[in-house]
Amino acid sequence: MLLRQSVIRGSRYPPLMSVRIGHGYDLHRLEPLQPEGDGRPFVLGGIEIEHDRGPVGHSDGDVLLHAVTDAILGAIGEPDIGKLFPDTDRRHEGADSSIFLMEACRRLRDRGLSIGNLDATIICEMPKIGPHTDAIRSHLADLLGCPIEDVNIKGKTHEGVDAIGEGRAIEVQVVVLVNS
Ligand code: MG
Repeated sequence: MLLRQSVIRGSRYPPLMSVRIGHGYDLHRLEPLQPEGDGRPFVLGGIEIEHDRGPVGHSDGDVLLHAVTDAILGAIGEPDIGKLFPDTDRRHEGADSSIFLMEACRRLRDRGLSIGNLDATIICEMPKIGPHTDAIRSHLADLLGCPIEDVNIKGKTHEGVDAIGEGRAIEVQVVVLVNS
């Protein structure tokens, strides 16, 4: 039971609002687009962005949707995305990652919970994320069924350091609050 009741000195109070936090993390390699490399079209938060490299992944490789899905699953104490949707399942080959997020949201609603707010940091050298944050926020808010004001997206570089800084990988970190 996520909902709790407060009992103070024998007086029964109405159920308190239950607030839980979840953290999501994901990283995908970025490679030249198929067929020259293994990169899929560069899609982030369901928005396709033009770039000469793309994520390597079993599904569409949407690193933001994967991290958001894991953050929600984490907040409600469910198995992570890799356990719910293993990359050995051929049904998910090239799949639109919004189906993973929709399943996490269904499990969230089944518990009488909804998104409070979400904050995501996207770390990559290229492409620049700033011009796309409004489109990503809007689409993500639609998927989550919450106001756009509750979805925040920040783009950062890795200062040229390591695989991310060399444009060979993209990383996302997400925190989400859910409440009843
Ligand atoms: Mg992933």
